[in-house]
Amino acid sequence: MRLLEQLLRPSIARLQPYSSARDEFTGEAHIYLDANENPYPTDFNRYPDPHQRALKAALAAYRGVAPEQIFVGNGSDEAIDLLLRAFCRPGKDRIVICPPTYGMYQVAAGIQDAEVLRVPLDADFQPQVAELLAQGADERNKLLFLCSPNNPTGNLTDPARVAALLGGFPGLVILDEAYIDFAPEASWLPRLEEFPNLVVMQTFSKAWGLAGLRLGTAYASPEIIAALTKIKAPYNLNRHTQAYGLAALGRVGEMEKRRTELLQEREKLRSALNALSIVTHIYPSAANFLLVKFRTPLTIFEALLAEGTIIRNRTRQVADCLRITVGTPEENARLLRQLHRLVEQIQSTTP
Ligand SMILES: *Cc1c(COP(=O)(O)O)cnc(C)c1O
Repeated sequence: MRLLEQLLRPSIARLQPYSSARDEFTGEAHIYLDANENPYPTDFNRYPDPHQRALKAALAAYRGVAPEQIFVGNGSDEAIDLLLRAFCRPGKDRIVICPPTYGMYQVAAGIQDAEVLRVPLDADFQPQVAELLAQGADERNKLLFLCSPNNPTGNLTDPARVAALLGGFPGLVILDEAYIDFAPEASWLPRLEEFPNLVVMQTFSKAWGLAGLRLGTAYASPEIIAALTKIKAPYNLNRHTQAYGLAALGRVGEMEKRRTELLQEREKLRSALNALSIVTHIYPSAANFLLVKFRTPLTIFEALLAEGTIIRNRTRQVADCLRITVGTPEENARLLRQLHRLVEQIQSTTP
């Protein structure tokens, strides 16, 4: 990778960040008259910790990294946005994505007016390394986004290919591990020290069951994390999110129990779907969803919608495919009953 100074936007390197009242004083005081807060206690009359120290200490212990290697934000979407803003000069720089994949990378690039180079995944939904390295050599390419397990395909990215891209891509390689708690052994976090250009993104939105809380994380070298921290809103994580995230890390067993249940349900759902004549293929999944190929996907999608069951239409990303999130046993059973009824209807109307 090129030196970080060559990747970071010069205007960001020069930027003097906002210094909040709580930046200038970080000890324990008796009387706080420095931030124009209201002195009368509500649950939220004080500003939150702009450095999220307690939450980062707990995350550092749980994930086995240093607090300086952690960025916490308002969902992973904040990390994606800040990466674009820190590294891509509007109208000049590019990101590289490998469709079919998560849509936010392209949207964040659009907001920043960064160009998007698309190098599609191969037939096994793996990144095309030779192609990426050939096209990636252009020095306008600042960020390569990979997603593992990938959304919407569900598969893990081959570790040999991730390693080849980390070694050969001249910019940062962002590995989006939003679903990694469903396949924790596949995380690249333990290898952060080896690769100065690796950024691992994770989230509390999926396995942790906290999508409504908005808590996402990015892990990288202290230099990259410092660049993101420099441009974040000073109080980007509110008090409630920091406290609740900290509490969730104190009861990891709850997440693990739900994860085990969801993984069992995923496999039950897979076998049941496999037995349906309307299903032609189910892709392997390391996440909490299945990408399912149907004979008549749009008919199925509309019919489920009419029954009040929403799944995700991914036919424009992967031919004939719908993406189904694993629900509770009751929800999955209802979905399967609805699909069985559809099979009967289709069979009775086809001569
Ligand atoms: C769900 C998801 C996220 C999560 O985003 P948050 O902003 O943390 O809720 C990130 N990346 C991918 C690929 C996802 O599917």
